[in-house]
Amino acid sequence: MAITHNLGFPRIGAKRELKFALESYWKGQSSLDALKAVGSELRQRHWANQSKLDWSPVGDFTFYDQVLDMSFTLGNLPERVRDLSGDSLDNYFRIARGRSATDRVCNYDVQASEMTKWFDTNYHYIVPELSTSTVFTLDSSRLLNEFKQAQCLGVKAKPVIIGPLTYLWLGKTKDDSDKLELLPRLLPVYTQLLAKLAEQGAEWVQIDEPILVTELDPTWQQAFIRAYNTLHTDQVKLLLATYFGQLRENLSLACRLPVQGLHVDALNAYNEIPDVIMELASDRVLSLGIVNGRNIWKTDLLATLDWLEPIHRQLGHRLWLAPSCSLLHVPVDITSECELDTELRSWLSFALQKLNELSVLSAALNNGRQSMETELRDNQTAIAARKVSTRVHNPAVKTALARIDANMERRTSPYSERACKQHEELKLPLYPTTTIGSFPQTEEIRHIRNLFRRGELNESSYNTAMREQIARSVREQELLGLDVLVHGEAERNDMVEYFGEQLEGYAFSQFGWVQSYGSRCVKPPIMFGDIIRPKPMTVKWIQYAQSLTNKPMKGMLTGPVTILNWSFVRDDQPRAVSCQQLALAIREEVLDLENAGVRVIQIDEAALREGLPLRRAQWHEYLQWAVSAFRIAANGVRDNTQIHTHMCYSEFNDIIESIADMDADVITIETSRSDMELLDAFDHFNYPNEIGPGVYDIHSPNIPTQDHIIHLMLQAAKRIPAQRLWVNPDCGLKTRAWEEVVPALHNMVAAAHKLRSTI
Ligand code: ZN
Repeated sequence: MAITHNLGFPRIGAKRELKFALESYWKGQSSLDALKAVGSELRQRHWANQSKLDWSPVGDFTFYDQVLDMSFTLGNLPERVRDLSGDSLDNYFRIARGRSATDRVCNYDVQASEMTKWFDTNYHYIVPELSTSTVFTLDSSRLLNEFKQAQCLGVKAKPVIIGPLTYLWLGKTKDDSDKLELLPRLLPVYTQLLAKLAEQGAEWVQIDEPILVTELDPTWQQAFIRAYNTLHTDQVKLLLATYFGQLRENLSLACRLPVQGLHVDALNAYNEIPDVIMELASDRVLSLGIVNGRNIWKTDLLATLDWLEPIHRQLGHRLWLAPSCSLLHVPVDITSECELDTELRSWLSFALQKLNELSVLSAALNNGRQSMETELRDNQTAIAARKVSTRVHNPAVKTALARIDANMERRTSPYSERACKQHEELKLPLYPTTTIGSFPQTEEIRHIRNLFRRGELNESSYNTAMREQIARSVREQELLGLDVLVHGEAERNDMVEYFGEQLEGYAFSQFGWVQSYGSRCVKPPIMFGDIIRPKPMTVKWIQYAQSLTNKPMKGMLTGPVTILNWSFVRDDQPRAVSCQQLALAIREEVLDLENAGVRVIQIDEAALREGLPLRRAQWHEYLQWAVSAFRIAANGVRDNTQIHTHMCYSEFNDIIESIADMDADVITIETSRSDMELLDAFDHFNYPNEIGPGVYDIHSPNIPTQDHIIHLMLQAAKRIPAQRLWVNPDCGLKTRAWEEVVPALHNMVAAAHKLRSTI
């Protein structure tokens, strides 16, 4: 009998119920009890959704983040919230977001903990704060209450916790101490927790250790052995869960830890499964993650069965089946997507459908394929249709791809020659000023876009309204005296969605929300087919903006790597190929902009860094195709055309050579919070082209002073010749208000003037 289970269910709710309940509580519009009731209902509903499984997760639900939940379970709260009043959930929200519902500004306004990306996903967790003085004390109330709730509902529940090594690895020490020194203090708390769960009747506990798919120092590998020898108990069975990648050099370690079961992501670690089976002791459970928890395509059930059947014959009841990872990373239910055409919908599978696939697979294994004949046939029809669909495969795109040659990636002349021509063409002063693209997305702008989307505003009125917005931002920039202007991006809802909507090969869901952090969700567009740009996407707006000014107007595009990394992508071809297709589409747009007389074109690659694979050994390959895609997109232009790129992050040290390889004439980056320290990377490496280090922290409502901006620019000028420096904000201004933006940019321009006069 193959057993089915799930590692985690999307907790935000099919209609984002949790988001709305949280935001209402935070605004003081509803009570804590009401919020808790929504949580309880969602858990109950989600267990009902999973009722066909042999084991459902408990503890995967959270009001903000599962890592922060673990910090609470382990009693690891930052000192600064210890004595604050209210429910423990209030302190929880203070750590998560700086404030809870009842807090007035400045009253309990505390510093939120840092937030960062969960492995290579777009989910962000709250970083545990650790120091040499950290002590851990068990608070099992949340987990035990939820476990009790599940038991009362008759759910066969498997508590889920984050393992001690992954917990420490995710945490940050402020005092640079060795995190592993905390392990002896941490383990007794885990032991107590397991004992409590056992006492309450838990049979299995899922203990997540995804760091086993990353490169680990020998000290961390040894710590695994130490930790699991300590945690090993006869009272409760442990299912050690790894996901997101291959085990590689940690494979033997993972197989030999004294736990009763091991979960492996059989999609990412497909080739390793025979070795895992060989190394795993014969009394251990092997859980195979065979349904993709990170993407939205239907599983090919027959192909999966072909592969699973011999494994099932060998392992029998020791074989468990699951999604590859928690379903947190996919939307809930494809059947709500009434606006997607039926053909496309028939290729997709969201969380509920994925769980159903698991049930079909286990039934086919346990009772023979004939017992699931209809389900398997329907699945096969959809899989076969997608494989040959003309909506997916476009011969013209394949031909264009085959024609890509190295020349397409190269500018005509090296940067030094281009720079002369561009200076001649653009006649910019020293320390030229510019912004990153967007101007405030006011209520009015959003209202216009909504009316248009709902069909309540016709196209020509929409165009007029948008032109007014563009004219406003051009007017403001001229008054401010900026040197290179932007049109302001009023027409864009989102920097990826905007382009996806205009490309063939992309589809959009209505409710395909995926949690990004806390109550925030994103709705990644779905790249399903070969990419075609049927017509220019941005040219008319930029041309209009250029017609209003004699200053150079920047064309504004999102780069291929960023579009790819923020989408659900195809699983029937390598990411690199999908990225090349996007690169060709953006290249056409770049050339159209150039032909329309646009002399400066910015191609944002905000998400290039976050696509880095989990293992460093694979970085090189990723960076090669990612940089190549950018070059294909950008480098078809004449020498005189100036290419900018923008990246809104500041860790460059480890990828600086690849950044330089992109060969953009100008790169603007986020730096203002780090006092220009990050420029050290550019300095050590001797970055050859122009740089605009951000001098205005756009994540803060504060207005930078002229002195501060001059200070930052002088720091920059110590490392990079002034002739190659630009003056600009950290990122786009879309989330700020005009009242903040105008004085801030005024100071920025004034600072640039002063800097020029000092040279
Ligand atoms: Zn940015």
